Amino acid sequence: MARRLSDQQHRRIQARQTQLRQQHAVPLEGAADNARNGLVVAAFGTTLVVEEADGALWNCTLRRAAGRALCGDQVLWQPHGDAQGVVLTVLTRRNQLAHREGTRRKFMAANVDRLIVVLSAQVAFNAVNLDRVLVGAALQGIDALIVLNKIDLLSSAQLSDWQTQLAGYRTLGYGVIFTSVQQHIGLDVLVEQLCAHTGVLIGASGVGKSSLVHCLLPDRDIRIGAVSAVSGRGRHTTSAATLYHLAAGGNLIDAPGLSDFGPDTVAPERIAQAFVEFRPYLGTCKFRDCRHRNEPGCALLDAVQCGAISAQRLASLHALIAEQSEAK
Ligand code: GDP
Ligand code: ZN
Repeated sequence: MARRLSDQQHRRIQARQTQLRQQHAVPLEGAADNARNGLVVAAFGTTLVVEEADGALWNCTLRRAAGRALCGDQVLWQPHGDAQGVVLTVLTRRNQLAHREGTRRKFMAANVDRLIVVLSAQVAFNAVNLDRVLVGAALQGIDALIVLNKIDLLSSAQLSDWQTQLAGYRTLGYGVIFTSVQQHIGLDVLVEQLCAHTGVLIGASGVGKSSLVHCLLPDRDIRIGAVSAVSGRGRHTTSAATLYHLAAGGNLIDAPGLSDFGPDTVAPERIAQAFVEFRPYLGTCKFRDCRHRNEPGCALLDAVQCGAISAQRLASLHALIAEQSEAK
């Protein structure tokens, strides 16, 4: 015979159900009248700085049921008291940019449409390092742009070596821009590429990311001051990802500490798919489990043989797949 619930149990269950309903309430229920659209320009956990279309900044807290908000997120929010607001809903993201911190994934920014990979002309070219970032971007649904900075330090022979080295990426459809912050070369081309997009700079320490940011954003300090004043976080703002508007249009998210960026642990086939020029060949090797190393009838090896794809890119594929099995 089914056991009957005691009155006390009934009360507890009802209280729990009410609590759950409150937590999972439809975000705009009863609040739609004064909900507004906004853009998260800095996020410190659940404290957000939200910008309205007219540029006004609001200190908002994130309603728990809204999940997590990242710099670059579009949100619905409503004012709550003086100069304060509550974020009710985080609108659907096009993508979210994560990097690895040890074994953890840390989400840095949302709705990024250009990952700007900055290389230094002073550092020898490393195809695997570049391909790792390009593959990571492709797997997160983000287009990448390659910037070779510090070209003022190159002789004309070295410059032409770099041009040869990066020409293949241009053929693959990646934007390649040669810059010198010091001599103001190429920065207008970079600004043009970003004018309708939201970009994030990534690159090893010392390649010139902060120098580029200072050049592209002459009003950066004013913005940092405004965001700090609104968030009440003082200069700590500079350690969180912050979204800036570029004078010529488009946005730049400065995400300090964005490093160790590459593909998550995914199947080798997905890594191969992220090499754009390999796609037509994948699935056409003689063996279904072909590793594209020395198997007969390998479509990728044949394509290298006839010059359709570069041996360097195939070597990168092998290196990235090997890293994945090491990480497991
Ligand atoms: P970050 O670590 O990527 O942010 O690199 P920084 O912007 O701090 O730059 C590292 C060093 O490179 C600094 O001493 C800069 O002055 C220098 N630097 C940056 N861009 C250029 C450039 O285009 N040419 C030269 N010669 N030096 C540069
Ligand atoms: Zn193969």
